[in-house]
Amino acid sequence: MSEAVRVLVGRADLARRVRELGRAITEDYAGRQPVLLSVLKGGVWFLADLVRAIDLPLEVHFLAISRYGDAEESQGRVQILLDVDVDIAGRDVLLVEDIVDTGLTCRYLLSVLAARDPASLEVCTLLDKAARRIVPLVPRYVGFQCPDRFVIGYGLDDRERYRNLPDLLQVEDLASLRAAAEPLEAPPARA
Ligand code: 5GP
Repeated sequence: MSEAVRVLVGRADLARRVRELGRAITEDYAGRQPVLLSVLKGGVWFLADLVRAIDLPLEVHFLAISRYGDAEESQGRVQILLDVDVDIAGRDVLLVEDIVDTGLTCRYLLSVLAARDPASLEVCTLLDKAARRIVPLVPRYVGFQCPDRFVIGYGLDDRERYRNLPDLLQVEDLASLRAAAEPLEAPPARA
């Protein structure tokens, strides 16, 4: 594997934790039919595995957003390019995120969704970069705490690349990753 990255969470640990989250959600939402919302594109890989670990009738819908600059520049204001095509009033809504960093994007989306009067509104994030939080936001479900490092793989990109890597990789040297001529290969599975 390139020295520009190292494995943060391997695929076996990812699969195990996603199953645990699925079990917790199944118990917590028993008797209900939650609506899972995912933000394109990064959260889709996690969502696809998570829903298969939830043993409940549920719905999946998508949002697409575009940011005005990075989260801090934009103060989390985003433009909603694709909105949820279902009325969430009175529904149990779970916003499924790849990563909560400053929390600004998530807080903005929660404020938009809360205004539509769901019965409940919670966040499930694969990664929580809590050390970088600017706004108070505590996701109900967290896959892994994340160091203050740039992470790629399992849906997370750098300039649209690397989403297909099956492990979560921590970038040690972004410049050399970007300069690398050859594609970053999927590293072998960790035991
Ligand atoms: P926030 O508004 O919480 O600061 O930003 C969250 C968004 O920033 C995530 O949905 C993701 O698009 C992006 N982001 C934050 N940290 C990382 C990271 O380590 N890797 C990647 N690929 N995206 C990140």
